[in-house]
Amino acid sequence: MLLYIHVPFCVRKCGYCAFHSGPFSPAAAGEYLDCVLREMDGWGRTLGRAAVETVYFGGGTPSLLTPGQIGAILDSAARTFRLEEGAEITLEANPESALKSGFLAAVRGLGVNRLSLGVQSLRDDLLVRLGRPHDSAQARRAAEAARAAGFSNLSLDMIWGLPGQDAAMWLEDLAGVVGLAPEHMSCYGLSLEEGAPLAEAVRAGLAVLPEEEEAARMYLEGSAYLESEGYGHYEISNYARPGRESRHNCGYWCGRDYLGLGPAAVSTLDGRRWANPSGLADYALVAAAGGARDEVEVLSDDTRRQEMVMLALRTGDGLDLEKFMAATGREFPRRDPAVEQLCSSGLVRLGAGRLQLTREGMLVSNSVIELVLGVVDRMHATTAQESYD
Ligand code: SF4
Repeated sequence: MLLYIHVPFCVRKCGYCAFHSGPFSPAAAGEYLDCVLREMDGWGRTLGRAAVETVYFGGGTPSLLTPGQIGAILDSAARTFRLEEGAEITLEANPESALKSGFLAAVRGLGVNRLSLGVQSLRDDLLVRLGRPHDSAQARRAAEAARAAGFSNLSLDMIWGLPGQDAAMWLEDLAGVVGLAPEHMSCYGLSLEEGAPLAEAVRAGLAVLPEEEEAARMYLEGSAYLESEGYGHYEISNYARPGRESRHNCGYWCGRDYLGLGPAAVSTLDGRRWANPSGLADYALVAAAGGARDEVEVLSDDTRRQEMVMLALRTGDGLDLEKFMAATGREFPRRDPAVEQLCSSGLVRLGAGRLQLTREGMLVSNSVIELVLGVVDRMHATTAQESYD
């Protein structure tokens, strides 16, 4: 099982953010910690000493917690579950809070063995536009401090497609972070949710997003550059040195069970899925009940099949056609006109027992995946009709 801990605090809201997070205060963090420990305890009683392969502190800004609070969560996880030998333990951190005196060495000492730093850009003008609470000098210093603290598995998060950014600026940013020699990089295209301040600024004409063609160049040329620097493009937005892929995220993409603790955290265990309430007060009630809840979605066979196809297609390995056959009882319909069309337009590649998105296909992954899901649904409907006949 994968264990995810959501830490719902940020020093301030970034202009593009749609994640669940609220203002930080030591009192709120203390209350949050009590709830997470109570929720974990409840799950320990329900699940027994389940094996945990990875722990991921995400947010929000997990680096706003003190090392003592992070240590309390890890101690509790080790007592409650069976933390596997060599488990990957990731902490997301923002550069400015990671630079708190002694923080990185302390969390490394607690067993956190992978650090994911939210750099986003090495250009101060773009960081200001994004409303980030750090500057590029802090980002560089945090990466260096992580090494000095003993982190040998460092991931840096970046964003492309920003207002005022062009492909040359993006490639320059990438060259800058490659210079910091991380083992892993996540590069997300900017996505603006309704209501985010940056979305309002774009609507009001105060910020201008790159044209579609320029954004496409950023993705295609950026990916090619990272590959030329030895970072395998192993998922639509993720790149890693060989063997340094995120084990936690790979677990999600291959459909492993995960338990999410904390406000707004989602869990999927044994074909059942639920989400915690996002407000701290409502979450506290769920935590007090040891995580028990009434609203649970039982995943249908259709949903599981669709998720398997969708998640696999997001990865560089793509969809394993033997696994597809084992899961559905049918061969993948290679000859379907929509599949042939996707192949001939260079958006997918079919061969060596796999269906994979090409880099161009990854650029428009949502539409490609939707088309493939349509093919699979039609295949399934035909199978159901045949058995009915
Ligand atoms: S630090 Fe991350 S979670 Fe917090 S507001 Fe910024 S983007 Fe959102």
